[in-house]
Amino acid sequence: MSNATTLIHSIPVDPLTGSISVPIYQTSTFVQEAPGVNKGYDYARSGNPTRATLERIVAQLEGGATGAAFASGLAAIDAVVKLLKSGDEILAVDDIYGGAFRLFTHIYQKFGITINYADTTDAGNVRNAITPNTRLIWLETPTNPTLKVSDIAAIAAIAKQHNILLCVDNTFASPALQQPIKLGADIVVHSATKYLGGHSDLIAGLIVTATEELGAEIKFIQNASGGILSPHDSWLVIRGVETLHLRVQQHCRNAQSVAEYLLLHPAVDKVYYPGLATHHNHDIAARQQSGFGGIVTFTLKDDTEDAAKDFVCSTRLFKLAESLGGVKSLLCHPATMTHKSIPRERRHAAGVADSLVRLSVGLEDVQDLIDDIEQALENSKAEIQILEVEMA
Ligand SMILES: *Cc1c(COP(=O)(O)O)cnc(C)c1O
Repeated sequence: MSNATTLIHSIPVDPLTGSISVPIYQTSTFVQEAPGVNKGYDYARSGNPTRATLERIVAQLEGGATGAAFASGLAAIDAVVKLLKSGDEILAVDDIYGGAFRLFTHIYQKFGITINYADTTDAGNVRNAITPNTRLIWLETPTNPTLKVSDIAAIAAIAKQHNILLCVDNTFASPALQQPIKLGADIVVHSATKYLGGHSDLIAGLIVTATEELGAEIKFIQNASGGILSPHDSWLVIRGVETLHLRVQQHCRNAQSVAEYLLLHPAVDKVYYPGLATHHNHDIAARQQSGFGGIVTFTLKDDTEDAAKDFVCSTRLFKLAESLGGVKSLLCHPATMTHKSIPRERRHAAGVADSLVRLSVGLEDVQDLIDDIEQALENSKAEIQILEVEMA
């Protein structure tokens, strides 16, 4: 059976009523027959049937053992860090999501956890950066926003040799394109706010573990710290996941066309999209992903914040907003929005230039999206300055 069929039929019909849609158990507690005698649930922080259904579906989607659903992607990331103790070190991809950087640096360093960074696109850099205290390797692939791709299988092999956990933030690819556990990762995290939810209507996070043992540790942390996903939002993510494969295929097609268009535009400098043969890590992406995703980023020849701000305020279909992965196209200016908590030098070193624009290519007709980008480049200062330079 194809992945799409398996997915759709992994969402159970309610055994009690035959309801084809998963019931929303909007309850805080479950009545017990006698102390400790219950129907599998006692208190809704510890477990809720709607959330449990989502957790099972996502574990299956990722090819893992156990799933756990959280109130946000960051709450999921937070739960993974809580597997560690004071004195432990995390080795993370340098082009890391801004919120994860803030959490690691401003919260966990206080508790004695050290964070080191490496350019993980070369697995050799990972091997060299490991110390005796490294307990967790943290990958995002592709990264946000420059879409660097790291070789999960190669890094998983290094992690296993050193008995270090490997966690992959799989938000950008989604399980429709990449399943890190099958490549050797121990843990996968998601901001389900993005492609899994898929409709820009909720905030949610997910963890999937390769083993039941690790899953039990995460479930313990989930219950102890309490950052759970509500039953209603669990239901919305299930509803989003039903169309994941269909949506992601179209995101990929649209993004490829947008990237190829940008590559030829005179006002555009660099284009980052793993589906372009010119992309640094195109080969790894082609090997480990079944598609290249819906995010395209680019810089302008006029590499200034002003030029980028001008552009992002000139599009009509692409709406200016943080977040990604929804039906409607969005765009943002990472330097002043998603990545403003990262110091400028670190940001530049990771390739997040002042004029970098991130597009979350949605499900509109692709020609309309290209027309929108074209009019915005023409109307914004970026293009005018280039023309002036060319005429002078
Ligand atoms: C958005 C995002 C997160 C954080 O998720 P929230 O749901 O916003 O808390 C983490 N990682 C990546 C790659 C993201 O894009």
